[in-house]
Amino acid sequence: MENRILVVDDEKEIREMLLKALTRLTEFRVELAGDGEEALKKIEQEDFDLVLTDLKMPKKDGLQLVADIAKSKPEILTVVMTGHGTIDSALEAMKQGASDYLLKPLNLEEMVVRLQKVLDERQRFVRLRDFAAQLERANQELKRADGMKSEFVSVASHELRTPLATIKNAIQLVLRGKAGEINETQTNFLSMADKNINRLTNILNNLLDLSRIESGRIKIKSQELDLRGLVEFILSSFKPQAEGKSIHLDMEVVEGFSPVYGDRENIEQILTNLLGNAIKFTPEGGKVSVLVNPFREEGGMVAISVRDSGIGIPEDQLEKVFKKFYQVEGSLHRSVSGTGLGLAITKGLVEASDGTIWVESEIGKGSTFTFTLPVSKGEKRDPHFRLALDGAFQRAQENFSSLTLFLIEVLDERAEAKDALLDQLEETVKKCIYRKLDIVLQREKEKILSVICEVDLQGAQVIRQRIEGEIQKHFIKDRDNPPVIKLGVATYPEEAISKRNLFRRAKEKLRS
Ligand code: ADP
Repeated sequence: MENRILVVDDEKEIREMLLKALTRLTEFRVELAGDGEEALKKIEQEDFDLVLTDLKMPKKDGLQLVADIAKSKPEILTVVMTGHGTIDSALEAMKQGASDYLLKPLNLEEMVVRLQKVLDERQRFVRLRDFAAQLERANQELKRADGMKSEFVSVASHELRTPLATIKNAIQLVLRGKAGEINETQTNFLSMADKNINRLTNILNNLLDLSRIESGRIKIKSQELDLRGLVEFILSSFKPQAEGKSIHLDMEVVEGFSPVYGDRENIEQILTNLLGNAIKFTPEGGKVSVLVNPFREEGGMVAISVRDSGIGIPEDQLEKVFKKFYQVEGSLHRSVSGTGLGLAITKGLVEASDGTIWVESEIGKGSTFTFTLPVSKGEKRDPHFRLALDGAFQRAQENFSSLTLFLIEVLDERAEAKDALLDQLEETVKKCIYRKLDIVLQREKEKILSVICEVDLQGAQVIRQRIEGEIQKHFIKDRDNPPVIKLGVATYPEEAISKRNLFRRAKEKLRS
């Protein structure tokens, strides 16, 4: 493609000389201007790729011209020409946005090489930028498709559950003889159908749970829990199943932990999934225990483990068992039926409750699945923040778009100074946020500044740089004793798929 160059110089002979040289040595299309003002007018009327300008000119000089172009037409490259005596001005021009400078008297061959290089670099940059834009579009499309897939799975599973329930009822009625007497063979066939309907219902429920987790639609109704009572209740519901395999069930509670904070239904489901697996993968005569341990309480967490003396999981597959549809290779594992969704759901539920989950295991000896839950005193609530995050999160989900949460904290300061600093910080950060829907507000209790922006990872990086630059300028530079200001950032859905996890991830990064 032919490059269009505007040569700006107040000396007619130099303009003419450059026009001749550039036309002879290159295929550039060259236009001329006698000063900065004329150059700006031409730029308004025509498209140029590069402006080659002298620095010293009447009316508008080269430095001003470079600054104006950088502001109003940043896509146009600028290269300045300068004498040895004014090299400082050339460097200043580079700071203002010029791509290169040429020393006078000009070496024409060198000039052409340098101009071509600047133009080539820009072309590479444009190609990369277009490529990044394409990737971003593809990414958005994938996110949208993924959202639609979750939506489809959710609707389909939901719609299938009702007719299945009706079929199950009808089979039960016939099995109980309500539609007349049935013989043994008929009973066997109907029992088989009934069992398979149970299996199908289970799979549908799992798919529904998974799509709720993946789309972040999971609702957490957190409350203080009686953990001992809850574990006892779930264990009692597994008694018949365990007795059927002569498996010993027990519970060990290390007393003295603070009340645990969480969603009762979620925790019931987590324990049910883990205990169901433990019994499923433990041979007759084995042992399954639930241990409640406050050993992680110093981090605001309590740990709950489900330990079995079962077949175990190979070391190289310990992480994989939490992936959806994953089932461990090997005949012992394969002989037990399942969908491979249970642990993916369990992990999602634990994370939605602000905890983490992991497994330790030894082949032939057994496995221990441990998950953590926050203790209630660690939970700080802030209605304004919650309302703002809820709204933004809902919008991001509905539009299949991204959302980034920034948390900013001032450390090492006395309380009053910290308050004042936080207010100043809020004002400074507000200047870095340009869009109406983005929110800057303080989390009162923890004295943390939060910024909620509807941007993806890439956008978050740009805003982060802006915020860090402003903090540096207003709070750190030229201060004898600058405060320590930390920043934690997390983006939905790339780094966290639920609201709580988004907050948790940002907080983890803040504290790291
Ligand atoms: P499912 O049990 O329906 O196959 P899960 O997601 O619950 O799916 O478990 C995934 C896989 O992890 C199981 O298929 C099994 O191979 C392995 N697994 C889970 N729990 C245990 C356990 N307690 N002991 C041994 N293997 C286990």
